[in-house]
Amino acid sequence: MNRQQRSTLAFAVISIVITVSCVYRSGRDSEPLPSPTTATATPEDKTKDDKKFSDSKKVDNGDFIVEHLAVKNPNYDEIDRQIKNDKLLEKAADKLNRSLILPNDIYLKTKDCGEVNAFFDAKEQSVTVCYELMEHFYKVFRSTGLNEQKAYDKMFDAVRFAFLHEIGHALIENYNLPITGNEEDAADRCSAFINLTELGEDGVNAVLAAADAFAAESKNGSSSKRNLADEHLLQEQRFYNSLCMIYGSDTEKYAYILDDNYLPKERAARCPQEYERTVQSWSSLLSPWRKS
Ligand SMILES: [Zn+2]
Repeated sequence: MNRQQRSTLAFAVISIVITVSCVYRSGRDSEPLPSPTTATATPEDKTKDDKKFSDSKKVDNGDFIVEHLAVKNPNYDEIDRQIKNDKLLEKAADKLNRSLILPNDIYLKTKDCGEVNAFFDAKEQSVTVCYELMEHFYKVFRSTGLNEQKAYDKMFDAVRFAFLHEIGHALIENYNLPITGNEEDAADRCSAFINLTELGEDGVNAVLAAADAFAAESKNGSSSKRNLADEHLLQEQRFYNSLCMIYGSDTEKYAYILDDNYLPKERAARCPQEYERTVQSWSSLLSPWRKS
């Protein structure tokens, strides 16, 4: 597909309700809320408690496997065809499989879901990026004044961040990683870590695109509708955290982030340490699961 064909991609013109870009769907999410005073440990909880985190190398019993599904909404035929023709999921799976040991197979999918989302499903062991989320990112970037081609290209960068955020959820679940604090933030940090340490300029562009999307979503008014009880951080916080990771990774190369006041100097001063801590933490957590 040439650039012009890409830029004329037909996206639906219905207005999209801006939502958070990730719902973490484990099987547990569908259970009714237990009373804090009557909740008791289940056998599943006990099994998990017995799985001890260990530094020793793990046994490789699985792979990331691409699963292609038929697209239902004809508005997404073009993007579906491109993703399959360009083998974007296969390339991502190949990189991940070269790097990571897995205790079981994890399926990677893109499809039309009927909602703006990307998610890890623990029951199905699958990571799904919805075409509706890609359309949402495209519209967000168009709303910032980018032309069709630039918005389209940047959409793929933002999707890379969202995809690796969901891979973060998948790794936390399958490796039984000891995450303290907010898992959504941990998944953002995992995505920033992989992008900034493994993917070079493509990775930096992914984190920058995510930061731009968070800023635009915030400006577009989604903040007034957000539920503060939601486990995701506010888009504004995710914007500053993303920029802090980039700036912290190389304060000279990305000095403009501070010079142009994208980050307040008080926060920027702590970003190198924050970045190092993130890299050390995720390197340590993934070390037993690395192939080399
Ligand atoms: Zn998430």
